[in-house]
Amino acid sequence: MPDAKKYVFAFEEGNKDMKETLGGKGANLAEMTSLGIKVPPGFTITTEVCDVYYKNNKTYPAEIKEQIAQKLQALETKMGKKLGDPTDPLLVSVRSGAAASMPGMMDTILNLGLNDQSVLGLAAKTGNERFAWDSYRRLIQMMGDVVLEVEHAEFEHILESVKETKGAKFDTDLTAEDLKEIVTKYKAKIKEIKGIDFPQNPLEQLQHAIDAVFNSWNNYRAIRYREINNIRGLLGTAINIQAMVFGNLGDDSGTGVCFTRNPSTGEAKFYGEYLMNAQGEDVVAGIRTPLPVSALETQLPEIYKELVDTCNKVEKHYRDMQDMEFTIQQGKLYILQARSGKRTTTAAVQIAVDFVSENMITKDEAILRIDPNQLNQLLHKQLDPLAKQQAEVIAQGLPASPGAAVGQIVFTAAEAFAKASTGANVILVRTETSPEDIDGMHAAKGILTARGGMTSHAAVVARGMGTCCVAGCADITVDEKAKTLTIKASGIILKEGEEITLDGADGKVYAGRLTTKDPELSGNFGILMGWADEVRKIGVRTNADTPNDAQVARNFGAEGIGLCRTEHMFFEGERIKAVREMILSADITGRQKALAKLLPYQKEDFIGLFHAMDGFPATIRLLDPPLHEFLPTEEKDIYDLAREMEVDVGTLKAKIADLHEFNPMLGHRGCRLAVTYPEIYDMQVTAIIEAAIEVKQKCPRCERSTEVKPEIMIPLVATTKEFSMIKERIVEIVEKKMTEAGVKLDYKVGTMIEVPRAALVADKIVEAGAEFFSFGTNDLTQMGAGLSRDDAGKFLKEYVNKGIYEYDPFEVLDQEGIGELIRIAIKKGRGVKPELKIGICGEHGGEPITVEFCHREGFNYVSCSPFRVPIARLAGAQAAIKEKLKK
Ligand code: PEP
Ligand code: MG
Repeated sequence: MPDAKKYVFAFEEGNKDMKETLGGKGANLAEMTSLGIKVPPGFTITTEVCDVYYKNNKTYPAEIKEQIAQKLQALETKMGKKLGDPTDPLLVSVRSGAAASMPGMMDTILNLGLNDQSVLGLAAKTGNERFAWDSYRRLIQMMGDVVLEVEHAEFEHILESVKETKGAKFDTDLTAEDLKEIVTKYKAKIKEIKGIDFPQNPLEQLQHAIDAVFNSWNNYRAIRYREINNIRGLLGTAINIQAMVFGNLGDDSGTGVCFTRNPSTGEAKFYGEYLMNAQGEDVVAGIRTPLPVSALETQLPEIYKELVDTCNKVEKHYRDMQDMEFTIQQGKLYILQARSGKRTTTAAVQIAVDFVSENMITKDEAILRIDPNQLNQLLHKQLDPLAKQQAEVIAQGLPASPGAAVGQIVFTAAEAFAKASTGANVILVRTETSPEDIDGMHAAKGILTARGGMTSHAAVVARGMGTCCVAGCADITVDEKAKTLTIKASGIILKEGEEITLDGADGKVYAGRLTTKDPELSGNFGILMGWADEVRKIGVRTNADTPNDAQVARNFGAEGIGLCRTEHMFFEGERIKAVREMILSADITGRQKALAKLLPYQKEDFIGLFHAMDGFPATIRLLDPPLHEFLPTEEKDIYDLAREMEVDVGTLKAKIADLHEFNPMLGHRGCRLAVTYPEIYDMQVTAIIEAAIEVKQKCPRCERSTEVKPEIMIPLVATTKEFSMIKERIVEIVEKKMTEAGVKLDYKVGTMIEVPRAALVADKIVEAGAEFFSFGTNDLTQMGAGLSRDDAGKFLKEYVNKGIYEYDPFEVLDQEGIGELIRIAIKKGRGVKPELKIGICGEHGGEPITVEFCHREGFNYVSCSPFRVPIARLAGAQAAIKEKLKK
């Protein structure tokens, strides 16, 4: 008979590479155990069990019972205690832990093994009756809430009312007798609501706890957390069952959370918080405000030293900043957990750069450590220092997550979500947040809490999301029911809908709206990006329609323009009038007259672009959208336009109706316009070349000869003939202009590949003279997958949830399908002209997974919006490093 499958591992049997099976927490506990770090012993039930549990209608593999029993027995032997022993009980914690960290999203049960008998044994054994009864009431509360589904508030209500009658300010003021009373009341409440007794058999408790943790893998907040953080493809959660150690055994006991470096700034300084005589949940829940870990140095110097040494050892071992939980039980230090610490991007960059200079990691590793999408956080706005100087600080909290946020106050997550979906900027103000608030926290521009430290739920989650957060703001009280925020010192009351400003960098809160400014991208960021550029092979250009965007993108490191959508230049001020006149002209003479008015505007814009590019190439796309997009729709505008153009309203309306298309995305747009009205592109090409000649001779902006590399791009080409007809006309104009001016320009004429047919005849298009391809993956996805760009968003989310598409194909390129069209086009195009320049200018060009695809497929460059340029630079570097590592 083959050996039974192994579903349960003692900590001694695992290691850090077993994350998929043991979950992150389990794998790390195993690794630390083998490193000789003092971890309370225990065992892990694998993620595979969770998978089997869900696949088999919430039933377990047959072998599991026996395997758990064996490991439990071994644990009892090791601890010299037995679960449920009435004289000296072993207590265990039951905790979730998936391969990816999901802080606070799943359930946990602590103090398991206590019942009406063993609580007496624990009291006698520890000589601490109060502690025993406090542990028991915590177990009942947790099991009651998580397993028996009695609302948390029911227990809180009992706790608060006993505190009130006993005159206890804090939980710690309650005596053993008070706690006994609470236990009796808790049990009665469960009986009243659920009609059952609190389970007394510890093995039954254990089974309930295991069921509850597996069930919590698919609770709403866990599912949402995975969605928001793009966590996919996991089997489920593992479960860690571990001997309990206690931080609430008196004044020589305590518990805390620490980071080996500052998770907010990255500073190489040991950082954390702790509470004496408390359990871990007290620190995280933010019910009591903890002390900074530096205070432990005076309070318990030896423990402090041991903690620092252990943390350093673990950081060195993992070669990464660690987030660790520790407990001191009667003067003895235990490490409960270590994992790579969540950090702000500022901290991530600082730590990566520091690790390189400390010779802990290589530059390549440093580059791979930063999630390119995370760079968004660095590009966050900051408060204008001048505005800060003049504004009055109304409250001070902890700088829990950086950035600046301005918005209207809301007091519940649901309101935050609802208001934000109407486009409002909201600040979620809470006494403290809980995992249920996830949607509202995600929707809010900023989060302000009255309680909790730097490691409170609000702080951890906000940092992960890159949302500005001020936590533990003791200067305020929040009344969620009355929807008010009161500034304690002044008594000022702020109500829902009033505006406030948060500064996540220093924890200050201001009334009203302060101005913000763009961040500066130098220092460590500059160093890291410099390293990235050294290894990156793929070019990064920008999609920019205005000289200002082009300049911003250059500052972010863009190496050219990959797409200038010239139609955006048609909307401003006086221009739209000329455009409308052109569209509505009855004949070519009228159109040319109107186009002549547009030419100087276009030329001026191109001069600005060429100047900003200072010798880098600029791809300029000729007019693309259907003409009716430029026409008025409101009755009043139509009347005004008719008056201005001196045509009657009826004629104008008829013309507008005539231009209407049922499916404009597949209609008279792109190069199809130029087939019908070639004079439009004639004007645009003239403007491009006249601007280029001027800038090359003497740029009107900087008064010096500046290199120009115009790349004229024809949109929506489907057939070879469209391309060759239009190119011929372009070349004629360019050559004539160059001869007249006596200037030779380095120019190219190419095409977008955005209609599937063009991809399939790409070789012929190159034979017809295309000098470059730029993949317009927005339209290529639309037409290739038959998904409307404008409407599919409504149902694509469901497609992604059901795994039909792994990602929204308009965000992350569908490499299997649309990617295949791209591969075909590249193969055919480069088959004719091996040096054919290839780029991408759809929205995917700044998306890291797509950038890696483009690198692999041999693209010359990607092009994306200015703010995504640094993301694409880093993603390009990572793609090059990953390729090197594969070889
Ligand atoms: C595209 O289709 O990918 C593209 C860049 O063009 P637009 O988005 O302007 O249609
Ligand atoms: Mg397009």
